Amino acid sequence: MGARQVLATDPAVLADLAQVRLGTALFRRALSRVPDARFAEPSLLAGWSRAHLTAHVGYNARAIARLVAWAATGVERPMYASPVARATEIAEGATQRPEALRSLCEHSAIDLDVRWRDLPDDAWSHRVVTAQGRNVPATETLWMRAREVWLHAVDLDVGLSLHEVPTQVLQRLLGDIVTTWDRRADLPMPRWALVAGAVTVGWAGAGAQDVEVRGSLPAVVGWATGRAQPGDSALLHWRGGEPRRAPRWI
Ligand code: ZN
Repeated sequence: MGARQVLATDPAVLADLAQVRLGTALFRRALSRVPDARFAEPSLLAGWSRAHLTAHVGYNARAIARLVAWAATGVERPMYASPVARATEIAEGATQRPEALRSLCEHSAIDLDVRWRDLPDDAWSHRVVTAQGRNVPATETLWMRAREVWLHAVDLDVGLSLHEVPTQVLQRLLGDIVTTWDRRADLPMPRWALVAGAVTVGWAGAGAQDVEVRGSLPAVVGWATGRAQPGDSALLHWRGGEPRRAPRWI
C-alpha cells in the first residue's frame, strides 16, 4: 500500500502546506543539533530554556491539530483550555527528559501533517477559532504553524538565523506584525515606517512623530519580533528617533 495523497487541490493550500513542511524540516534539523545535555540552556526567548521551547513547539502542533480536527468533523475543539492551561502544559512539559521532548515534537508534527493531508477540499474553509480568539478558516492553520516552526528553529540558538527563513515567510510575518500593531491604537508609539530592504511597510500609528527603522528584511523582522537589539547599528538604521524596542505583537 502506497502513502496516501494530500486531498486538498487548491494551489494556495498546497503552496502553504509545502512551506510549513519546509519549516518543520528546519526545526527538526535545528533540534537535532541540540545535544541532550544542552536542553536546559537558555533559548533565544527570554525566560525559556530549549526544553521549554521544544515542549511549546510540540504542544503547539497538538493544539493546531485540534483546530484541524474541528474543521474535519465540525465538532468544536479549542486550541487550549485556557491561557493558564497552555502555560502550565509548557512548564510541566519542559521537565521531561530530552528524549521525551524530541519524541513529542516528532510525533505531534507527524500527526498534524496527516490531519492536513486528509482534510478534504470543502473542510479547508471551515471556520475555527485561534487561541487569541480570531475566527479564521482552517487554511490559516498552515500559516499559524509555519510562523512557529520557522521562528522557533532560530530561537533554539544553534547557529541558524532569520536569513535561513524564506523571504516570502518574512514578508508575511512583517505584514502580520504591522496589522497587529495597527489594531492596537492603545500603544504609546510613534508612527513607524519600517523599511525592509527595498520595501516600505508603513504603519499609521497613533503618535504624531515619524520614526523610520531601516535594515535588511531579516534584520527588520528580527527587531519587530524582539529578536534583534534595537541599537545594533550594523543591522538597523534609525531616523527621527532613538533606537527602541518593538512593541509586542503576539
Ligand atoms: Zn511559539
